[in-house]
Amino acid sequence: MIFTIAMWKDKAREYIDKNSDHLIEISDEIHRNPEIAFKEVKASRLLSDELKKAGFEVELGAAGMDTAIVATHPEQSKGPTIAILGEYDALPEIGHACGHNLIATSALGACLALGSMKKELTGKLIFMGTPAEEDIGGKIAMVEAGLFNNIDAAMMFHPAPGYTMTGRQGLALTEVKIEFLGKASHASGSPEKGINALDAVIQTFNGINALRQHIKSAARIHGVITHGGTKPNIVPEYAAASFYVRAITDDYCKELVKKLENCARGASSATGATLKYSIIEPSYQSRVMNKPMGDAFAKNLEAIGEPIIPLPPGSGAGSSDIGNVSHVIPAIHPYISICDNSIAGHSIEFAEASASKRGHEVMLNAAKALAMTAIDLFTDSQMMDRVREEFRRNV
Ligand SMILES: [Zn+2]
Ligand SMILES: [Zn+2]
Repeated sequence: MIFTIAMWKDKAREYIDKNSDHLIEISDEIHRNPEIAFKEVKASRLLSDELKKAGFEVELGAAGMDTAIVATHPEQSKGPTIAILGEYDALPEIGHACGHNLIATSALGACLALGSMKKELTGKLIFMGTPAEEDIGGKIAMVEAGLFNNIDAAMMFHPAPGYTMTGRQGLALTEVKIEFLGKASHASGSPEKGINALDAVIQTFNGINALRQHIKSAARIHGVITHGGTKPNIVPEYAAASFYVRAITDDYCKELVKKLENCARGASSATGATLKYSIIEPSYQSRVMNKPMGDAFAKNLEAIGEPIIPLPPGSGAGSSDIGNVSHVIPAIHPYISICDNSIAGHSIEFAEASASKRGHEVMLNAAKALAMTAIDLFTDSQMMDRVREEFRRNV
């Protein structure tokens, strides 16, 4: 029997429907046991076990990270290599407030569905479990270890509050740490003998706030003071702050990081405190868009009854280590709404939505759309060519 693309897609959807209770159980199990970056022991083991049961060759501990997974389907044939990515780290204190349990389980569901028919499907299928997205970005280490070198395309989904989009941009992000060394003295008895490190931090913030009017609209600079002294009667001899600098392009992000350094150097001159300026590596790169792959995902989503809901113009954007992947191979990171847009990401309410009935439904629909888009790429060589061409044009 010769299968058509539509028949493959029907088979993938049937598989996911048939296994929906089991997938929901896995998603809720990860949700009930939130594990922060690099501590995703239970989640990575649970996913690895499921993939092993389905016959995948599983490497747990890829790229030197204990909780990173590369699971390859054993039935390989000529054709494109497609990776479906799963994140599973939670946030400190507020649990799965970014819904990564849904990401992990949708990727698993898609891979199990595709794996069940892999004998007839051309190409190579890989599940990649990517830890620590909320921290330093496990995908970056996986890119640096060359794990994406022989992959033709990567895809994942992310839950969202109130919008469903396949082509949302992500910002480049660099973390900067500033520290000032001053001189302690009695803040009332002999303030003239002190050098106030906290004032230098505050002056840095003031400089950045003056700069803010003159930066491009999508860019962001936001920071917190991590050390500000110990007691009001001691002139602070040490103070420190941490900043995230974000921009739509990697070059503009670098330019802003330099401007932030100038603000800190100015504050150092003004106060006499010595500056220690550190850029925390690695940086999250901007996102290289891939319209043909995004459009294919959107078409598949609409075919299963998930309408596209665009973000209002002027909405802010976040950053993700998928950006670094998208600079190496074609990649998509579509969003599907799991709740009302009055709810913020990284909130208790979003964590609740990530284990709600709608959250489950979206996870299953995402698994279907991921599998269907992979089927497009496995079976339609012209589409794969268009995806490659678009990548070369945009990167
Ligand atoms: Zn997040
Ligand atoms: Zn997230």
